[in-house]
Amino acid sequence: MLNCREVTRLVSESQERRLSVVEKMSLNLHLMMCDGCKNFSLQVPFLRRAMKAYSERLEEMIEDQGGETPQNAEDKSK
Ligand SMILES: [Zn+2]
Repeated sequence: MLNCREVTRLVSESQERRLSVVEKMSLNLHLMMCDGCKNFSLQVPFLRRAMKAYSERLEEMIEDQGGETPQNAEDKSK
């Protein structure tokens, strides 16, 4: 039987890799009985999308700033 800690780990890993049948079965069994982990498993895909969107925006911001660093301005004046 999995404990909550193992379940949250498996839920996170299920985003990265395919779980084995045994892992899926024990995971689902726990989720049926544990509201905390059930809520967590529902939030993970959402959090993952949010994190991805956030990091993409962050990259865009960094790229935007790249054109206006003092170093570049100096190069242009040469
Ligand atoms: Zn649990």
